[in-house]
Amino acid sequence: MENVVILGTGIAGLTAAVYTGRANLKPLLISGPEDGGQLTLTTDVENFPGFPEGIQGPELVRVTHEQAQRFGARFVVDIATGFSSIKGGFELELMNGQRVQTKTLIIATGASARWLGLHSEEKYKGRGVTTCATCDGAFFKGKEVVVIGGGDSAMEEALFLTKFATKVTVLHRKESFRASKIMQERFFKNPKCSVVWNAEIVEILGDGKRVTSVVLRDTVSGENRDFKTEGVFLAIGHVPNTMLFKGIVEMDVNGYLKTDRFMHTNVAGVFAAGDVQDTRYRQAITAAGSGCQAAMEVEKYLAEKE
Ligand code: NDP
Repeated sequence: MENVVILGTGIAGLTAAVYTGRANLKPLLISGPEDGGQLTLTTDVENFPGFPEGIQGPELVRVTHEQAQRFGARFVVDIATGFSSIKGGFELELMNGQRVQTKTLIIATGASARWLGLHSEEKYKGRGVTTCATCDGAFFKGKEVVVIGGGDSAMEEALFLTKFATKVTVLHRKESFRASKIMQERFFKNPKCSVVWNAEIVEILGDGKRVTSVVLRDTVSGENRDFKTEGVFLAIGHVPNTMLFKGIVEMDVNGYLKTDRFMHTNVAGVFAAGDVQDTRYRQAITAAGSGCQAAMEVEKYLAEKE
């Protein structure tokens, strides 16, 4: 039986791996469908302490992965599809059919991009509709695109897209952004960036192959109008990846795992770290911090049991 299995290889899971590895617990990490987590989909990380010039998200993940390996962490690229309690711990079933038994579990499965839920969005996914500017931005060289959302992600995506697109319009359902001041300043300073306030997307239109426009509803007047665009970038927040634990581990109405301030869930021996349990900060550094906490709690839990 493993001492500790960590689900998720984002910055929370990797930090937990560094700590449990260093405590000689030989952690086993299971990547899940988004190996490396959200940082692999971003570019400059300017607010992670220790990097005065910033660091690229994927690079931060890569070096932390290496650091965890140095302390004996083992990595499996697979997806957990089953979870149950067994005598002395837990059993996970992986997609490849393998079963893994463990005394403790750290859930660091993070959160994934939220979609609007429109039928037309589904139709044009990958044909002009995307949630990742860093992945798909280059396909929109010389084109006009829109970004949906009003948070830091929307600002970041919009600014990144100005490298390729001729014009980037942020469509936001309210009349002000919730993004941080510094990001808003950069956005409004950029001549390629503009905003349409009180705009809700009700439909994405295209020629069957690619997006040609969106239908906007003015949330004040209620009127609809067409807005020409070739790319729709969604930056409307995230949903936690907790399906596997429904009915077993306690969660809030939005599906975020509930933890106490020591990263314990309501199931003894199951801990959670990172965006899967964070409804407030959702920063790389807080994810890493909670990964550290969960790891230290695992160590304490195992020592007390033995
Ligand atoms: P946020 O939850 O902060 O913002 C989501 C935005 O999407 C809001 O403006 C919200 O509108 C809008 N929205 C949500 N649902 C819909 C919908 N169905 N239709 C239209 N609009 C919708 O998410 P972010 O991903 O931007 O940020 C998450 C966290 O990550 C934050 O804490 C942020 O600070 C952090 N972050 C930090 C960065 C940095 O420091 N460089 C970069 C990126 C993220 P409304 O405002 O009306 O609710």
